[in-house]
Amino acid sequence: MAVAILALQGAFIEHKKKLETLGAECFEIRQASDLERPFDRLVLPGGESTTQAKLLHELGLMGPLRKRIEEGIPVLATCAGLILLAETVDGTGDLDNLNPAAAQNRLQVKGLGTMPITVRRNAYGRQLGSFHAEGRWEDEAVPLTFIRAPRIEALGSDVEPLVTLNDAPVAVRYRNQIAAAFHPELDDDHRLYEALLAPLKRAY
Ligand code: GLN
Repeated sequence: MAVAILALQGAFIEHKKKLETLGAECFEIRQASDLERPFDRLVLPGGESTTQAKLLHELGLMGPLRKRIEEGIPVLATCAGLILLAETVDGTGDLDNLNPAAAQNRLQVKGLGTMPITVRRNAYGRQLGSFHAEGRWEDEAVPLTFIRAPRIEALGSDVEPLVTLNDAPVAVRYRNQIAAAFHPELDDDHRLYEALLAPLKRAY
């Protein structure tokens, strides 16, 4: 099983370590030619979604990755990665110390848009920018680490909540796509990775 991890910016190394402990072979995607290598799974890490989106466009990766996702490759996206998958993005990144032009740029995330959800960026506020919590996956507890996380505000049809915090979805699944607002790579819980690596139940 080969997992391609988007490695333009952000927390990709931690995903790689997790996936390797589960026996997956990983490689990094940094440029369009990296997509020539065969892969069966895709990971979109956390980081800064505006920066990631800009780089994806500039490097010619946005179209090819969107196509692979629409064709059904299983993908796990975390935090900024969730923002990239979302069809609708509200809110801004951290605009402190930016000039107006840079701030305007950061407001806009033109991502992959392959998942019918609405997310609000940095929705937990400055005081709650980073925090730990305990969520639920069905009846079981899940450790959650949030870092300036987006909030999942609306789910389109066929989007199912996987993990909830206070009854609100913080990880969701839509067909071949799993997206989490938190950082599973920082906690000792492998379930989202196992869900990514699991054999496909049906083709999309
Ligand atoms: N706040 C970031 C954004 O809006 C996401 C944070 C993260 O990935 N940890 O892109």
